Amino acid sequence: MTDRLNKLRSQLATKGLDALLVSQAENRRYLSGFTGSAGFLLISQQKAILATDFRYVEQAQVQAPGFEVVQIQGDIAKWFPGLIAELQARKLGFEGKSISFSTYKELTDAINNIKIKISLIPTEGLVESLRAVKDKEELRLVEKAADLADAALEYIIPRIKPGALEKEVAWEIESFLRQNGSESVPFELIVASGPNSAMPHARPTDRAIRQGEPVVIDIGATVDGYTSDMTRTICLGNGDNMFNKVYDIVLGAQLTAMATLQAGMTGEQADRLARIVIEQAGYKDAFGHGLGHGVGLATHEEPRLGKSSIDILAEGMVFTIEPGIYISDWGGVRIEDMVVLEEGKVRPLTKAKKVWRP
Ligand code: ZN
Ligand code: ZN
Repeated sequence: MTDRLNKLRSQLATKGLDALLVSQAENRRYLSGFTGSAGFLLISQQKAILATDFRYVEQAQVQAPGFEVVQIQGDIAKWFPGLIAELQARKLGFEGKSISFSTYKELTDAINNIKIKISLIPTEGLVESLRAVKDKEELRLVEKAADLADAALEYIIPRIKPGALEKEVAWEIESFLRQNGSESVPFELIVASGPNSAMPHARPTDRAIRQGEPVVIDIGATVDGYTSDMTRTICLGNGDNMFNKVYDIVLGAQLTAMATLQAGMTGEQADRLARIVIEQAGYKDAFGHGLGHGVGLATHEEPRLGKSSIDILAEGMVFTIEPGIYISDWGGVRIEDMVVLEEGKVRPLTKAKKVWRP
């Protein structure tokens, strides 16, 4: 945690900020180790304060030994002026994307009531950009979460029989994950069959899975807060010609990106590696989302791989590579793996079999 705080502090210095108010849940956890669902961090060059309410004080003291834990209660106006006076910060950064309008208003009101002039400066992605590069321990947890997702897929796929409901299969996967060491699953698992699979973020329904149609299974596990995210698309029995054709294009796009992606590329350049394969096969408009996203404490975090992403893909980043083709009334195919960038290249973290044809 000290290393993380030091990195953040040098960022604050570069941006000319005296302190940062951290309110985003994963950022709070990343910097302090505190897993509670409420509280703020106030970090300056000298101080690291964790302000939380009665429910979490004891937990915070145990989980965040590097922080001065302050118990707060009620309106920001009550406790904020005291804390900010202690910090002696004139330029205070806050996380623009995670503070609600009403909290922002409470903050400005609280600051207006203090004699010293403090400017509130919105920041974006300060802690998120640190989180994008994983350290050794984080990578170990992400790999454990990836292994669990692999195991769940290898377990479930041979057990899916025609007639099984999407919801039943999703629950069986979730039970497997929980019984084998996952904390609560990081997102609602997707089991989408037939035409439902044409929706990239379909929710499992009461639809019975039939032979010969695509079934998209998108799952993840959580280990010590770190998540995984992977997708396989299968077909019970022999797929129609469409399935085989679409599947091979998506697989080709995915393998091409895995093989040719290099550290130093932008998210847009990486996206292009797979997109061009799909475009050349004539499915330009059927791949309507980005190629991938960072995975860590949040399932969707930095970096972004997609059109117009200027994120630079760097050593130690963990992200997904997940091209897909979606066709209304027929279905969809998506193949998603998690990878880490090492020695300039991609190393796959999820490894479950990709071709399940009979
Ligand atoms: Zn996914
Ligand atoms: Zn994903």
